Formats: sequence, structure tokens, C-alpha cells
Amino acid sequence: LLKVGILGLQGAIQEHVQAVEECGVQAVIIKNVEQLVDLDGLILPGGESTTMRRLLDQYHFVEPIQAFAQSGKPIFGTCAGLILLAKKINGTDEVHLGLMDVVVERNSFGRQRDSFEADIAIAGLTNSMTAVFIRAPHITEAGENVEVLAKYDGRIVAVKEGSLLACSFHPELTDDHSLTNYFIEMIRKTQSARQM
Ligand code: GLN
Repeated sequence: LLKVGILGLQGAIQEHVQAVEECGVQAVIIKNVEQLVDLDGLILPGGESTTMRRLLDQYHFVEPIQAFAQSGKPIFGTCAGLILLAKKINGTDEVHLGLMDVVVERNSFGRQRDSFEADIAIAGLTNSMTAVFIRAPHITEAGENVEVLAKYDGRIVAVKEGSLLACSFHPELTDDHSLTNYFIEMIRKTQSARQM
């Protein structure tokens, strides 16, 4: 059985565990660096990126997660997780993991729309899925190797770059697990590529 870790420092952890399990895969909550070794993929949940960063530093996660990505193992960042993955965050010089060639803007859908649901299409996956946005970031620039998977209101909200997947919204908060499944398929592909 594939083993998917959910970074368990802060945020919407349990909902991801449930989504992963409902996809028929083992889910493990990751609270320390030693647990990363036998994972096949890692999910960085939504929550609050500055708090998460503080905890990443406190538990010495930054370099091990970067090494995890460099080893080719897939990572899926959702909402705050996308902010952690980005190479640049608008309006600040601070970078967290800096793994994905995207620029993000935090809390970019306006205060009166703190949270909302929208129907979006994901390229190559589904024409219609409900996306839950909660103080969501969006992607203002995507590098040339970044595949844009979804837009909402003309703004990029889901991307893939090699073995990295990220979205602005919370895919774990609905019963539609197609994006979680897509990530699991990415893991399967990297594994069969490795065995060849
Ligand atoms: N606004 C949050 C941040 O900047 C992200 C919100 C979320 O993950 N739902 O970290």
C-alpha cells in the first residue's frame, strides 16, 4: 500500500487523512522529520503559512522536505501548503520551502470573500469540481515548466511542476477526491518510473 504523509504541524490535517484513506491509500500524520523516510508522497495542508513556517523551523523540517522533493518524491501543497512551496511570495522577501517556480499572492480574493465555494475545471481531470477557498492565495506568475491546471476568475488556482502539485483551495473539504486521487496517481507514476 502506498503511504502518504500529511504534515501534521498545523491546519486542516484530519480532513486530508480522511481524503487519502478514502482513496484507498495509507495516510500518516507527520510530526517529526524521521517519519519522512518511508513515505511515498507528502501533503502540506492548508492553515496559516506563517505559523506553519515557524513550526517547520522549530522541528527542523525545511531541509528534509527540500531533500524529499529533490529525491523526486511527490509533494502536494494546498492553500497555505502552496504558499510554503512557492519560490516567491508577493510583497515580501521571505521564502519558505522555495521549491516551486511560482509567485503567489496571499489572501488575494478580498476580505468580503473570506471564504467561498466555486465550481472549477481541472485540466485533464474534471470539468466540474467544487473548490472551497478560505482566505486563499492565488498564483500571479507560473514559470515555463509549470503546468496550469485550473483558473478561477482569470486567476491561476492549481498548478503542477514535475512531481509537485499545488492548489489555492481546500480539496480535502469536499467529498470529491479527484484531486487527491490525481496526486496519488502522480506518486504511482514516479514509482513505476523508478522501477524501470
Ligand atoms: N491565508 C492563509 C495563509 O496565508 C492560507 C489560508 C488557508 O490555508 N486556508 O497562510
